[in-house]
Amino acid sequence: MRIDYYIMGDAETETITVDKVYKTNTWRANPDQLLDQFNNGEYYYRVYDALTNKIIYSKGFDNYFREYQTTKPAERGQRKVFQETALIPCPKNPVIFVIARRNDNNILQPIFEKKIDPEDYHIIDQKLPENYVYEAKINGDPHKKVDLLFIGDGYTGKEKRAFKKDVDRYVEYLFDTEPFTSNRKEFNIYGIMPESIEPGVDQPRKQDYKNTALEATFNSLDSPRYLLTENLWDLHDIASQKPYDAICIMVNSKRYGGGGIYNYYCTFTADNERSDFTFLHEFGHSFGGLADEYYSSSVAYSNFYPQDIEPTEPNITALIDPDRLKWKDQLSEGIEIPTDWGKAEYDSMKIDLSELKKEQSQKIDQIKQNQADSKAIDSVKNVYKAQIDTLDQRIEDFILNHPLRDKIGVFEGAGYESEGIYRPTVNSIMKEFIGDRAYNKVSEKAILEIIKYYTQ
Ligand SMILES: [Zn+2]
Repeated sequence: MRIDYYIMGDAETETITVDKVYKTNTWRANPDQLLDQFNNGEYYYRVYDALTNKIIYSKGFDNYFREYQTTKPAERGQRKVFQETALIPCPKNPVIFVIARRNDNNILQPIFEKKIDPEDYHIIDQKLPENYVYEAKINGDPHKKVDLLFIGDGYTGKEKRAFKKDVDRYVEYLFDTEPFTSNRKEFNIYGIMPESIEPGVDQPRKQDYKNTALEATFNSLDSPRYLLTENLWDLHDIASQKPYDAICIMVNSKRYGGGGIYNYYCTFTADNERSDFTFLHEFGHSFGGLADEYYSSSVAYSNFYPQDIEPTEPNITALIDPDRLKWKDQLSEGIEIPTDWGKAEYDSMKIDLSELKKEQSQKIDQIKQNQADSKAIDSVKNVYKAQIDTLDQRIEDFILNHPLRDKIGVFEGAGYESEGIYRPTVNSIMKEFIGDRAYNKVSEKAILEIIKYYTQ
């Protein structure tokens, strides 16, 4: 059963209302794992039998709305509406469908409930669109496999072959990375390519808009590299053609960017030179429920992880109770907690780098206003390039030659916070795209648990 609802509000308010309920194809997730024990995600769906009040299904997730709530417009009281979709096993008898959200202490509280009778004639059972399908890897019964679905956006009807090749390339990146390498047989992988009228993707800051099937767009939450779609219902219409436990939206563009929201979807562009890293990073969010381990890049959020509250993600901690550290069993022998890693040196390099980049873009804006030609702009870029490259290299050397590079400890700086939030390793794909294309061991273990949830 598919429940489409609106979620709307500003920083302080939140309203949910169900739009439509559908009967969809058979339940493809694992029938032996109907209750989600991960306790991750800002929200949970919970389904109770209406007669006995017994819980029959639950699943944790994050959403776009929650991120919107932390932005400046939301804080100013500007309300925004988002589409959302819940997929639940079709009940035999009437159920209470509940959406729960974490309170200030991260305890889940019901914020919405609706009784749904599966016999209700309002429930829609209709045919949905059919698009080009590519069955990339089939390893067995969808009930006992992770069904991973790549949906292409910004591919026109003439680009089916390109789409297929792109899917194959990302499947290769996936299976070249642990814990996916060791578990490749646990996955079924499909590609679906709705035909977009125009190739590419929206780039609002360039006033460049394209008519694409999913309307994926850069500059989500006014953050230039953040790539998301708000068309959740179209997304689930398109996805319904194949079984899916997780959706990856592959965008036909060369530009750097992506996004990933836990049990929601991830996005990445197919043709950027760092797209392999981006895909695995964003998939780490959407599939693994992993948090960002960086803290020095600018993001749209403010105070995403409040102080003194332990985050729910498996790969970051507020270190409130060191005796109950999430990755206690994986710590390197004799490692100090928290772990001194030369943060001040790293931070000063990162600050210098961001100042340089700021200076450069200010200079470029300045000469653009004076109608400078592209040659003049290039010469400004060249002046800064050498300095930026040198700093980039120093940061890379710092990480690659770090004495604790292979150690698991408790390193301060993660989840957009320089202080008070900690990560398990000096570097990883959830932190910075330097060195190997790999998660750290703590994230690998967390992802493995999720693979088991879908397959065992
Ligand atoms: Zn991220």
